[in-house]
Amino acid sequence: MRWTDRQRAMLLEMGIRLGPEPPGAEPVAVVAPPAAEPVAVPAAVRDGAAPAAQPPAAVAAPPPATAAPVAFVSTTRVAHMDWPELRATVAGCTACRLCQGRTQTVFGVGHLQADWMIVGEAPGEQEDRQGEPFVGKSGQLLGNMLRAIGLTREDAPATQQVYIANTLKCRPPGNRNPQPDELAQCEPYLIRQVALVQPKIILAMGSFAVQSLLRNTEPIGRLRGRVHDYHGVPLIVTYHPAYLLRRPEEKARAWDDLCLAVETARQAAK
Ligand code: SF4
Repeated sequence: MRWTDRQRAMLLEMGIRLGPEPPGAEPVAVVAPPAAEPVAVPAAVRDGAAPAAQPPAAVAAPPPATAAPVAFVSTTRVAHMDWPELRATVAGCTACRLCQGRTQTVFGVGHLQADWMIVGEAPGEQEDRQGEPFVGKSGQLLGNMLRAIGLTREDAPATQQVYIANTLKCRPPGNRNPQPDELAQCEPYLIRQVALVQPKIILAMGSFAVQSLLRNTEPIGRLRGRVHDYHGVPLIVTYHPAYLLRRPEEKARAWDDLCLAVETARQAAK
C-alpha cells in the first residue's frame, strides 16, 4: 500500500511517521516520539479539551422538546422506529439511572447512510454539554485518523462521511465506567441506528464499546487484528482516541487496525 502526500501528512497528525518506502515494499509505521501527556482520566472515553469541528450537515434536527419519557426500552418497538421517532425516544429516555445526571442525550452524528459507522463508549463531560460524540482532543484525533484513510466527519458523500454513535447515550456521572445493565438497556438504540444506517463496516473504539458489542470480556489487545460481526456487519476493534492520547506508543497498532478496516470495507463493497 502506498500513501499519498496528504495521507502521510494525516499520519503525522496522528503521531505516526512512515519509514522509507523501498520499491515494491510495504511502508513501515513508526510511532513518533510521545507527545505531551494529557491529564489522566478514569475511563478511556473521557478527555477535556477544545471543542471539535461543527457537526456535519447530514445530522438530523434536534429532537422535539416534548418527547415522551421512556421508562424502559422495548426492543421490539425500537426495532421499528424511523430516525425522528428514534431520536425523540432517546431524548426522552429514562430507562436507566444515567438519565438523572445528564445535561442531554448524545444521540449520534453523521451521514445517515454512511458506509462507515464509528461506535464509541459513552459521552464525557464535553459530549454531554455539546450533545455530540467525540469532541475535544479525542475528537480531533479521531478526525485525523479518519482523514488518514480518506474519511471525514464533515459533510460529504456516504462513501466518505462516517456516522458516529456511542454505546451509551447518556454520560455516566463523574465519568465513571459504564455498568453492564446500563449498556444492556441502551443497546437497542444502537442496534436500530446500525439497522437504519446499514453501514458496510463498524469501527468499535474503546474497551467498553468493544466488550459490550461483542459480548466478550477479553481486552482489546486480544480482540483486535481480526474481523468480528455485529448484527451482520463486519466489525473491527481498535483503541479509543482518548486512550491513544495517553498511550501514543499504541498509535501504530491503531493504524494497523485502520488498515484492516479499510481492507475489510473494500471486500464488503464488492
Ligand atoms: S443511557 Fe441509554 S438507556 Fe440509559 S437513560 Fe440514557 S438513553 Fe436511556
